[in-house]
Parts: sequence; C-alpha cells; structure tokens
Amino acid sequence: MLKAARSTVAENVACNNESTQKIAHPLAKRRYIMHKTNRVVLWLTPLVFLILTTGCTSGNRLLSGLRYKNNVISHEQDKRILFENDAKENAEKIRLILDSCIEVVTDFYGSPFEKDIYITISATQKGHVRRCGDFEKSRGMANWGRVFISPLAFSSNTYTSILIHELTHLHTIEKIGIFHYIKAIPAWFSEGLSVYVSSGGGAESFTDSQAIDWIIKGKHFDLTNKGSLLKPSGYVSTLPWPMFYKQSELFVKYLSFYDSTNFKILLRDLEQKKNFKKSFVTRYQTLPIEIFEMFLKEKRTARNSS
Ligand SMILES: [Zn+2]
Repeated sequence: MLKAARSTVAENVACNNESTQKIAHPLAKRRYIMHKTNRVVLWLTPLVFLILTTGCTSGNRLLSGLRYKNNVISHEQDKRILFENDAKENAEKIRLILDSCIEVVTDFYGSPFEKDIYITISATQKGHVRRCGDFEKSRGMANWGRVFISPLAFSSNTYTSILIHELTHLHTIEKIGIFHYIKAIPAWFSEGLSVYVSSGGGAESFTDSQAIDWIIKGKHFDLTNKGSLLKPSGYVSTLPWPMFYKQSELFVKYLSFYDSTNFKILLRDLEQKKNFKKSFVTRYQTLPIEIFEMFLKEKRTARNSS
C-alpha cells in the first residue's frame, strides 16, 4: 500500500519534472506562450469588436466590469458594498436594503445568486457615467456580475426599485455571461422583466394607462427586433426609454399571468443558455408575436368598454 503510494508520488514527481522540462525546452516554451496569447486574444476579440462596432458607449459599458473596484472603499459592515469617499451616506442606504432586495429577486426566480455580488456607488453622477460608460441620466447598471447605482437614483429616491431592477438583470447575467445575455435575450424581455420584478423601476415617468394608449395607437416596441452583438439590448427601440420599459413591463407581466408555471420554466431555460425563441415556443406553444396580438386585443376591448 505504502509502496504503491510511494510509486504514485514518484510517478507524479517524474511527470511534473517532465512537464517542467517540456516547458523549459525553447520550442515548448514558445508554444506555451503562443497558446496563452491566443487565449487572451480570443477573450479580447469580441470585446474589441463590440467597442468598434457599437460605439464608445457600449464599449465603455462593457469595460465597466474592470472599473468597479477603482478608487472605492469597502463598507466596513458589508464588504459587498463599494463606495467612493463622498458616497458614504448612500452606501449606508444600500446596506439597509440590500438583503431584502436580493430576496425579492431570488424569490421571484426561485433560485439564489451563485456568485458574489458587488454594488459600486460613485459620489457624483459624472463619476458614475465615467465608471460605467452609461448614459448621462443613468440611475443604475448591471454588468459582468457587478451592479452600479448612481447618485441620481438616490436624489430621485428610486434607489430601491433601481437596485432590484439591476439585480434582476444580474441574476441571469451571472449564469450565462454578459455576451450571451446581450445577444440572445430580446431587450423587451430582459428590460420588461427587470421593470416588472422591481414594480416599475426605470419606467416611473409613464403610467400603465399612457403605455396602453401608445400600444393601441400602434406606437409600440417591435417584438422581432431582439438586439444583437452589433446592436446590444436596449439600443433597439425607437420609443423613449421609459416608454419602452413600461410597455415591455406590461407585456412581460401579461406573459407571466397568462401562464405563470411556464413563465418560470422559461426563465430557467434562459439561465441554462437555451435559445429564447425555441424555449418560448416550447413553453407557450406559440410565438411571442401571437401572444402580443392577444394582449393588444384584450387592451383594445377593455379600453372600448370603459
Ligand atoms: Zn435594465
């Protein structure tokens, strides 16, 4: 037994020596460096491609994942919260609600977050925009497994719903990665879901009734326009952002009420990287556009009878 164990150790040592010798050999060393370089290039290519093809904003948004820890302090009572020097008060506000916001999201999905969550809070709106590459009036963003909450979310007192909105995005992003999330899930679904789970987070400037008016008049988002690597989610609607959010929320809510069991199964499918359209058809036995027509018909009937 001991002999066998010793010989295994000896074999391992020999094997290790052999692999070290292999790498020590100039040709093997060169091959090893080329292999490593190729891996880095493979990883960076989609990122550079996105920056070049989608403009600085979305490129900057993607790079934000690298900046979440720049010039910040960890909250001493909760290391998940990172904040700039002058954002201590806002960091404390997040500390008080973070666990309950996480609970809203995990209860909705029926599964926990699997990775560490970090919330970064900048002291100024400019600083937030610079850090995230997000648009000027951004109140929050989720990216690469990080959440960013801006000063505007606090001054507008919407930080709770914005945090839930971003955590809803994060729950799926952490499982399937940001590239797949952007490429495979239509913006109307991902944004609509986040607004729905956060009870209106991000869509406060329009009411349900206003959104229904626009939808009935034919001024609604295009279900066939799902976003792509070239046009990431959120860059695909001609509607004002909050109207796009509100309409998407109403339709996602309709889907969840239409068949709550299959809606939850669809969410699980998406977190397993299954194809959106295929899973949708499997779960709902029809295309999204067909259900949208039913949704539209119901809204028209309800409006005519009121
Ligand atoms: Zn969103």
